[in-house]
Amino acid sequence: MKVLITGAAGFLGSHLSDRFLAEGYEVIGMDNLITGSMDNIAHLMPREDFTFYHHDVSKFVHVPGELDYILHFASPASPIDYLKMPIQTLKVGSLGTHNLLGLAKAKQARMLIASTSEVYGDPLVHPQTEDYWGNVNPVGPRGVYDEAKRFQEAMTMAYHTFHGLETRIVRIFNTYGPRMRVDDGRVLPAFISQAIRGEGLTVFGDGSQTRSFCYVDDLVEGIYRLLLSDYPQPVNIGNGDEITIMDFAREVLDLVGNDKAWLDHRPLPVDDPKKRRPDTSLARKVLDWQPKVSRAEGLAKTLPYFLEKVKS
Ligand code: UDP
Repeated sequence: MKVLITGAAGFLGSHLSDRFLAEGYEVIGMDNLITGSMDNIAHLMPREDFTFYHHDVSKFVHVPGELDYILHFASPASPIDYLKMPIQTLKVGSLGTHNLLGLAKAKQARMLIASTSEVYGDPLVHPQTEDYWGNVNPVGPRGVYDEAKRFQEAMTMAYHTFHGLETRIVRIFNTYGPRMRVDDGRVLPAFISQAIRGEGLTVFGDGSQTRSFCYVDDLVEGIYRLLLSDYPQPVNIGNGDEITIMDFAREVLDLVGNDKAWLDHRPLPVDDPKKRRPDTSLARKVLDWQPKVSRAEGLAKTLPYFLEKVKS
């Protein structure tokens, strides 16, 4: 079985590549490396069952031979990245998705797209269930990501209903683990690296906003099960253990234990969602999936990676 993974040099794409190779698939990884890093897949490059294409999927995508599955994980995914690259973010979610759907149709492959909790915007329903339509500002700074992902879902569903393509949609909630970029601006890499360096932890606003963090292995398991399921509607995958950003900052201070670090309040970014927590009843029902790794356990598995990256 052969699988194409876009964004393969990124955080999630590289973990997915590992998982599919471990399951015995042949993996083709594709990435334009604007936010991904070859470091994440250096260990795969010598393998016969892994091929890498340096390519931007918002341009026509050609892959020789047969394909069984396509997993579209290419996209800037942190708020500072998509603020820096708004057009690329829109293009990879829209044109990139269209190209890959066309490829999936030509190859008769099943396609899974990486959607996001951002489709719910600053949610008015809590926790977020898949049947909630969201509260997104299309012209705000986050609109480039949120609307690209909403379009991506709509386009994927249209290929499913109109062309009968086999499609799967995963809505990913905040995920963390080794291989996140230290400087990607997301709260977890920011806080951990600031704590290691003995700097201020940049808490945006009063820190009362909440997030719910899922360890990468749990997410990968959920995605694997969804791909192999027969469920074409969107499914939330995330961990329901919700925490305020202020409490999370204190937790990271305790974990890292560097007395020099402190809490440094900064302005809240525009349209920052006030709360976020997945309702994962659907994943439990249709995939028999639930997260297994607690935040304490996941942070303990992640810290050594950041210690090495920040100190080197
Ligand atoms: N945040 C923060 N300090 C940082 C980075 C982020 O307080 O250095 C906050 C941000 O305002 C948001 C939450 O942490 O409320 C999660 O932000 P992140 O960028 O990780 O992803 P988001 O969930 O907003 O997409």
